[in-house]
Amino acid sequence: MFGEGLIKGLTITWKSLIGKKITVLYPDEIYSLPDRFHGKFRFDKDACISCGMCVRACPNKVITLETEKVAKKKRILKYEMDIKYCLFCGLCVESCPKDALGYEKDFEMCQYKWEKLPMVFVDEEPLPAEEKERLEEEAKKAAEAKKAAQEAAKAKAAEDASQGKEG
Ligand code: SF4
Ligand code: SF4
Repeated sequence: MFGEGLIKGLTITWKSLIGKKITVLYPDEIYSLPDRFHGKFRFDKDACISCGMCVRACPNKVITLETEKVAKKKRILKYEMDIKYCLFCGLCVESCPKDALGYEKDFEMCQYKWEKLPMVFVDEEPLPAEEKERLEEEAKKAAEAKKAAQEAAKAKAAEDASQGKEG
């Protein structure tokens, strides 16, 4: 029939006009996003154990992790994500055993200059040699004190046990 397409089209238009709106006036209004939305990354430096699982999981080599060893512990020097190569696939977040890496709901990451795109979470200088030595000495003393306390506790337990037998 002549004009059938036009009627169909207008029906859809009218339905959209009087039906429930599915758009919002961004940026004045923002949709309530689901909890699992992949927005900006969050990184918890204190929770991170520098295991490198996120770095290995990333298919696009987005994450740079640099560490130094101080008193048998790893100290993070750099944790940086080059977001322009990120697929937001979530493999890094899923691989993290300590929940140190996750997503926020904020998706506004635009920058005028691409140099500003990388997300730098940690960028620190290595510790000076004297500071490293001091921390290593402290850790050594703490380990020795712990060992001595354990041995004293063991000796006391053995003494208590022998007194119990005698009694
Ligand atoms: S979301 Fe995917 S691409 Fe982006 S940093 Fe994580 S693993 Fe790499
Ligand atoms: S996987 Fe998690 S704990 Fe391991 S280096 Fe990455 S952010 Fe840190």
